[in-house]
Amino acid sequence: MIRHNQLTPCFVKGVPRILEPGILYVSMEYGTVVHSCCCGCGLEVVTPLTPTDWRLTFDGEAISLWPSVGNWNLPCRSHYVIQGNRVVEAGQWDKAQIDAERRRDKAAKARYYSQIESPGAQKELKPKPTNGPAGTTANRETIWAKLLRWLS
Ligand SMILES: [Zn+2]
Repeated sequence: MIRHNQLTPCFVKGVPRILEPGILYVSMEYGTVVHSCCCGCGLEVVTPLTPTDWRLTFDGEAISLWPSVGNWNLPCRSHYVIQGNRVVEAGQWDKAQIDAERRRDKAAKARYYSQIESPGAQKELKPKPTNGPAGTTANRETIWAKLLRWLS
């Protein structure tokens, strides 16, 4: 059951120690979103914003979080989607689905962080860098190549 089916976004620097139910605390500083569980149990739900965890959409008025919030680690085991400040109850997952999600999450994180650590793999991920260090270096090399040709 969902007791709070509407959340009010609140942009904060640091997350307060006591969470008010029905408030979605967003800290860009820490790249995280925290709220008091929408089932009404009052336990803290932390949804970090990372490329492998949650992503936040803010249209100036309302916030959406994706993917869904599955509180498998809380006694209530509530599961819902935050879409345009509204809390939409999602179906309960059984143990097999939770285990599958945990495996997927672990694999996604392993994949993502191994890409960060090895630059070769990251190049594969982004084949066409439009700007940034790679593009700048390439341009400088071209200028140097021209200069060398002109000098010789
Ligand atoms: Zn709860």
